[in-house]
Amino acid sequence: MLYKPGHSTAGKTGYIMEHRYLMEQHLGRLLTAQEVVHHKNGKKDDNTIKNLVLCDKAQHDSRPKERKPRVIKCPHCGENLMVPWNARYAEGRRPSKHIRQRHV
Ligand SMILES: [Zn+2]
Repeated sequence: MLYKPGHSTAGKTGYIMEHRYLMEQHLGRLLTAQEVVHHKNGKKDDNTIKNLVLCDKAQHDSRPKERKPRVIKCPHCGENLMVPWNARYAEGRRPSKHIRQRHV
């Protein structure tokens, strides 16, 4: 955190995120709310410019690993079922399609 009162992204406290400030200095402009500064090596306290990369917020927030099919256990027979990553039923709830096909 850097103390920069009056900076556009400084809140009431006057502090801003150092990595965002460094990227702004590097680019010579202010960052937008849609831009995220990502630490390449995952170390949040390594604020060298080489470790910083500018990302789009939507891109940064999407986590590809969560888009793989999930495996849930059927509460009826204990069988493992693959469900899409965005399936609406939560773990432990009955997968209705499977119930219809196998348990009726
Ligand atoms: Zn089952």
